[in-house]
Amino acid sequence: MGCFSDSIVEKTRRTVSKYRMISPSDRIAVAVSGGKDSMSLLRVLARLYLPRRNEIVAISVDEGVAGYRDEALRHSKSMVDELHVEQVVVSYKELFGFSLDEALDWKEERTTSSCSFCGVFRRRAIDEAAVRARATVVATAHNLDDYVQTFMMNLMHGDLARLGWLDPTYVDESFPVRRVKPFMEIYEEEVALYAYQNGVPFQSVSCPYMHEGLRSEVRDYLNVMEANHPGMKNVLLRSGLDVISRYARSSEKESVPCSSCGKPSSNGLCNVCRMKAEIREHVNIKRNPRTAGGG
Ligand code: SF4
Repeated sequence: MGCFSDSIVEKTRRTVSKYRMISPSDRIAVAVSGGKDSMSLLRVLARLYLPRRNEIVAISVDEGVAGYRDEALRHSKSMVDELHVEQVVVSYKELFGFSLDEALDWKEERTTSSCSFCGVFRRRAIDEAAVRARATVVATAHNLDDYVQTFMMNLMHGDLARLGWLDPTYVDESFPVRRVKPFMEIYEEEVALYAYQNGVPFQSVSCPYMHEGLRSEVRDYLNVMEANHPGMKNVLLRSGLDVISRYARSSEKESVPCSSCGKPSSNGLCNVCRMKAEIREHVNIKRNPRTAGGG
């Protein structure tokens, strides 16, 4: 059984080395949500890089989902204590002025899925936490399944410009700290087995918003394809990497500073500020249903 865990550590090391994700002087922030993937990533990177004297900091985001994130944050705290690494926690409430529950309390009227909304704020929150942690690189626990799902979703949305984000060697200039995905060549099932074998504690409840939107349909579809055609996800990963390496860089758009916060944006207003304005408008309408919209 120990051989399997060692193979996951070795696979991670090979991926990191192949794409030059981490250098000896890096201070590594690991985005730890408290789920099995991120808790396993923290453990694997600690095993690989603490002995090499890289510093590791766990960064966690409290989105503000009642009954969901509290348990995850407890688990992540117990692991950072066990590994003797620092932890930086930021919350949506602190950074944006609302919790995710408050922001999503208008499902009927909006067309954007909960995860699309959340993802925009989450990226900004990780960005902020990484800066506070004085990290030079941020490792996220996206595994092979996540990677292939995102690739397929970008194709289905016709959002080819975003393919560049999936290039493992791509450096996003709009993000102050380099982002890497050391688990991108490891199946979700393998990470789950690693977590069980190593007694990694992780949250037992899922986010109540996770089954909305296209991703869960793509996930189910790919799982069926993999069951019927073993190895299909791995083939898709290789095809995706090939397409991205040929196409993505030429499709990158010039960015301009956001007129509201100054961060890079594609059209003068970044997604965070645009969505914040939509949420504020919704909250005002809820609080003052008679006056809102009346000028
Ligand atoms: Fe956010 Fe979706 Fe993750 Fe829930 S499942 S925390 S809504 S990205």
